[in-house]
Amino acid sequence: MPRDWRPWTIAGERIPVADGQAFDVVIVGAGIAGSALAVALAGHDLTVALVEAQPLVPPSLPAAVDVGSFDPRVSALTPRSRQLLQELGAWEAIAAYRQCPYTHMTVWDADGTGCIEFDCAEVGAPALGHIVENRAIVSALLQSVERAADITAFGGVGLQDCRRDQSAQLMQLQLADGTALRAGLLVAADGALSRVREMLAFRTREWDYGHRAIVTTVQVERSHGGTARQRFLPSGPLAFLPLPGAAGAHYCSIVWSIRDELVDDLLALDERAFCVALGDAFENRLGEVQACAPRYAFPLRQRHAVDYIQPGVALVADAAHTIHPLAGQGINLGLQDVAVLAEEVLAGRARGSNPGQAEILRRYQRRRKGDNLVMMAAMDGFKRLFEQQALPVRWLRNAGMRGVGRLKPLKQQLIRHAMGVQ
Ligand SMILES: Cc1cc2nc3c(=O)[nH]c(=O)nc-3n(C[C@H](O)[C@H](O)[C@H](O)COP(=O)(O)OP(=O)(O)OC[C@H]3O[C@@H](n4cnc5c(N)ncnc54)[C@H](O)[C@@H]3O)c2cc1C
Repeated sequence: MPRDWRPWTIAGERIPVADGQAFDVVIVGAGIAGSALAVALAGHDLTVALVEAQPLVPPSLPAAVDVGSFDPRVSALTPRSRQLLQELGAWEAIAAYRQCPYTHMTVWDADGTGCIEFDCAEVGAPALGHIVENRAIVSALLQSVERAADITAFGGVGLQDCRRDQSAQLMQLQLADGTALRAGLLVAADGALSRVREMLAFRTREWDYGHRAIVTTVQVERSHGGTARQRFLPSGPLAFLPLPGAAGAHYCSIVWSIRDELVDDLLALDERAFCVALGDAFENRLGEVQACAPRYAFPLRQRHAVDYIQPGVALVADAAHTIHPLAGQGINLGLQDVAVLAEEVLAGRARGSNPGQAEILRRYQRRRKGDNLVMMAAMDGFKRLFEQQALPVRWLRNAGMRGVGRLKPLKQQLIRHAMGVQ
């Protein structure tokens, strides 16, 4: 498609689009998953539209490095996710901005002596993963979207309605500004509260974890040394994720998942009192918590769509599944959905098939659902295990952690799985 077809460029220039224009693929949601999928499908003789309710402007990235300069939302990207972003041409911009590799991970139980350490050297890898600010990932992907001549981006205008046109075998979409579009394949990448999932009555299985996650950035007294740390407290897990430092100052991103009823009191504390409470909860393993950026709280809910597909429609990433952030796997699973869906659509294209063809979508669902279920069950199991206060469970849990630490092959397998390389 010639570039002039772009109805709404990222730079904000408006170009009229023919009403009811048909696209091979329409992706709703330009978060990490949606923009990654658009880039993955670009350049393959497909017409792709990307619809985003928020203005489609790459987020601005502060040059200063101080406690307030970091995005409170970060992702622990596995080497596999990093590889995908590299293939999409986005990793270069992320690396040129800032990210923090972590080579070591320490996890310990607040209720005993159980502790387990993972090191990248155990599996001969240069790092276990990278901590990257979400806005840096989105910004890099939107730059790739902007470079792709065959992605038509609709920014600042949400999807309002969608229905199936049985006769034409196309999805009919209506945007909030009245624009009508048709799609051979509609992809819902519109996040945990997906409107597409709701409008098309996809069923979900879901339950509340009874946790909210407080996220923020802190400055700590001592260097994190490239180690991601997590302490399992009876009230929930607390993670200190390493961030790039500057001029002798050390920063970590915090994900403190904690029982719902305790969150409001923590949010109400002034900065100094919150730093003290956080330091106590973390056993001050990096010395004093010296400063803290504004805090945000996210409700945590496990949600899994019973089906990821309907005729002409696919759900990806958080629209299909959300899990507890305790192992930082959410967007890593989402990016694998994106990689597999793109692979199946492009393989179908090479056979001359429409992207919405049932077999393509069935193959996508078959390849992704099992993997996602295993990870979700594991995260749920961990959360429940560490909540148990009964003495025998606590003893077993601590003994188990020490035992796994001594079993080299099992530990290597766990590391590789968490890195997404197995
Ligand atoms: C506290 C916390 C910590 C986390 N840490 C990690 C981690 O370390 N590692 C990890 O892998 N994952 C982590 N996750 C999970 C990760 O953040 C999510 O999996 C990821 O952000 C989901 O990306 P997405 O693109 O699917 O959805 P989103 O980022 O929610 O993007 C959806 C997009 O769709 C748009 N949209 C919504 N409705 C419409 C509409 N009607 N029309 C048009 N556009 C629409 C929205 O504006 C948005 O831009 C964490 C989650 C939480 C809550």
